[in-house]
Amino acid sequence: MTHYVIIGDGISGSSAAETLREKAPDATITVITDEGEPLYNRILIKEHAKGKLPEAPISIHEEGWYEERDIELSLNTHVTSVDTDAKVVHTHDSGDLEYDKLLVATGGTPTQLPVDNSDADGIHHFWTFEDARGIREHAEQSDTGVIVGAGLLGIDFAAVCGAQGIEANYLMRGDRWWRYALSADGAEIMHGGMRDVGVEPVFDSGVDHFETDDDGHVTAAVDPNGDRYECDFAGVAIGLSFNTEFLRGAGLEEDNGIMVDEYMQTNVDDVYAAGDLTRFYDVLLGEQAQNGSWGSAKEQGRIAAVNMAADDEAEQFEWVSSYSITHFDFPFLSFGHPTLGDDHAERKYSDTEWRRIAFKDGKIVGGVLIGDLSPQTAFKQLMREQRVVADQKEVLLEQSVDLDELAPTQEQ
Ligand SMILES: Cc1cc2nc3c(=O)[nH]c(=O)nc-3n(C[C@H](O)[C@H](O)[C@H](O)COP(=O)(O)OP(=O)(O)OC[C@H]3O[C@@H](n4cnc5c(N)ncnc54)[C@H](O)[C@@H]3O)c2cc1C
Repeated sequence: MTHYVIIGDGISGSSAAETLREKAPDATITVITDEGEPLYNRILIKEHAKGKLPEAPISIHEEGWYEERDIELSLNTHVTSVDTDAKVVHTHDSGDLEYDKLLVATGGTPTQLPVDNSDADGIHHFWTFEDARGIREHAEQSDTGVIVGAGLLGIDFAAVCGAQGIEANYLMRGDRWWRYALSADGAEIMHGGMRDVGVEPVFDSGVDHFETDDDGHVTAAVDPNGDRYECDFAGVAIGLSFNTEFLRGAGLEEDNGIMVDEYMQTNVDDVYAAGDLTRFYDVLLGEQAQNGSWGSAKEQGRIAAVNMAADDEAEQFEWVSSYSITHFDFPFLSFGHPTLGDDHAERKYSDTEWRRIAFKDGKIVGGVLIGDLSPQTAFKQLMREQRVVADQKEVLLEQSVDLDELAPTQEQ
């Protein structure tokens, strides 16, 4: 009988467990998580923090879900190391566990700002349901806020401040929000959305240090220009550090993430990885890539499980990811790898509509849509087909994209 062990019960680990049970009815499956609750919807915890959603709908699996499938679930169990020669997982106080095949699906932990007082009371990071409960409770009592981190997770803090009536300054290092994917035109729409909910973007700023009161509670952020922003609430979202410390000495190749191929296999026999923490071979991009999104993590977990159960390279990961933001009056969607590529096309259609498409070797590799998301289906299709279309930007920038208007693909 095969023993499968999965470390992590986020969406990638949980989806792997579900698929493994379907593919390997007789195997033993153990899922280990250091959180105190089984899988919940990490995307929805921001709605809880905003005060808009009670706890119940956020939970995805009850403990009974694992029992019904004869999957052993180990809550509150931290994996401290893995011996890949002896094929044993060591935990902090639940003993050792042998495996035949192992899946590492441990995601990441938000990075702390490397500045004075960054661990003060009232400064929040956002990853777990527990974090969301703390943010909600504190946000409800706060009047002034500071947000740091001009990316997809930082903007969730802006939305929380907006929804909880906190007057906040959003301190950004450059001249706009998510400057790696948006031009000034696109970012200006997002800045308008922030201002509409009472959050003021501050550019060429950041945090030099935080100030605290005698009780150690944050009172202000001081930026590198010396400007002081009062706050009793602060949200920091400057990136993730992947949870791989327990793999020290295990021989897994890492390069800011665990290196896996398109089958989610690491360089070590019988060890797979899935979810946010992988640097995977992206068959559409033709190079190693990373992706931090729910749908991608879920699919990577499924693909890892299919290949673990098949004892073979049965199915490869081929996926166009998307990440949407619904905090403002207009919708926002990023797809694929909008920050990569060697060429791009963009257009502004109105005060709340903008589009940008990124190309590599003439093929679409990602993009951002603001206001009108309707072209996403066409763009994702072209991306999957790996069609060379960069020479037809006018068709792609039409308000309504009609793929029939594209010239037939030339033989390469
Ligand atoms: C506030 C917020 C909003 C988001 N919004 C969106 C969105 O709108 N759209 C979108 O696509 N994505 C969104 N994401 C990102 C998305 O949630 C992640 O990409 C996805 O959850 C990653 O899943 P994962 O399984 O790879 O990792 P995780 O969900 O991080 O799961 C890893 C699990 O492993 C556990 N673990 C770590 N180390 C150990 C150890 N040593 N021993 C035992 N267990 C361990 C962790 O505690 C955790 O439970 C959001 C994330 C956050 C935090």
